[in-house]
Amino acid sequence: MTDKRELTEKILALKKQKDACILAHNYQLPEIQDMADFVGDSLGLSQKAGDVKQSLIVFCGVHFMAETASILCPDKKVLLPDPEAGCSLSDSLQFDQLKAWKERYPDAVVVTYVNTSAAVKSLSDYCVTSSNAVKVVDSIPPEKPVLFGPDMFLGAFVARKTGRKNIRLWAGECHVHAAVSPSDIENARSAHPGARFLIHPECGCVTSCMIEAAEKGEDEKTIFSTEGMVREVEKEMGKEYVVATETGIFHRLKKASPASEFYPVSREMECRYMKLITPEKVLNSLENGVYEVKVPEDIRKKAIVPIERMVSIS
Ligand code: SF4
Repeated sequence: MTDKRELTEKILALKKQKDACILAHNYQLPEIQDMADFVGDSLGLSQKAGDVKQSLIVFCGVHFMAETASILCPDKKVLLPDPEAGCSLSDSLQFDQLKAWKERYPDAVVVTYVNTSAAVKSLSDYCVTSSNAVKVVDSIPPEKPVLFGPDMFLGAFVARKTGRKNIRLWAGECHVHAAVSPSDIENARSAHPGARFLIHPECGCVTSCMIEAAEKGEDEKTIFSTEGMVREVEKEMGKEYVVATETGIFHRLKKASPASEFYPVSREMECRYMKLITPEKVLNSLENGVYEVKVPEDIRKKAIVPIERMVSIS
């Protein structure tokens, strides 16, 4: 316990000394979230990165997020405490694949989820997060075809919400969310029949869940981005919730409503990449200035356009 406290104190002192800011994603370990200057989802972190006053950003998240911070703050040094912290969803759409897809549909507007590499963003017209994907696609003239990637479940959700028929989906997925099946949901909900159900639109079963929820007129009250879940719980402070997203969010949900009980749909919903970041690695990052993430200027100049559009439509 003392060791943990000492480690945190050391990190906080070094953070001040090195003029650093720690940004952490909602899926990070609780101890990382507690030492961060700001905790949020991809959109919130992008907005925050643009406002950071310090010269150094220690990004506790995964690689594409650190790249986004580097794109938005080219004059700052951005460090990722573990260079292996990648993202299976981001990996599912590569630069060459998007380039070839665009060549097949030259008139299409390209909308990519923020979980993509800087190179993929440089080929995109719009970047979105789960909080603003519907809004962004809705803002595109209806006659324009849309290429949406890489998350097919979020894409199916957006297509249904916007009623758009001219949207093509890339068949990518996040291994954590894709693993959730309708039977996991059914089991968790029957174990807690009084609990309210909250699900992230990246989940593998989201299409069937959404259809069921829409039939009951409850989709607006069920499907949320992680930030949306926190806001909803903070507002309602209900007794019990069954939650379908990466389990790191439980720390923030519990802070938002300490008296509520939160049950995961599955304990397996853990992102191994997010959990690679530990306090020891954050300390190493601050002490040794590792591992720097820097986006080449030619890519940065193109990738910033869809990111700025994402941040403005939020
Ligand atoms: S939870 Fe999924 S989408 Fe998020 S970082 Fe992990 S692999 Fe990527």
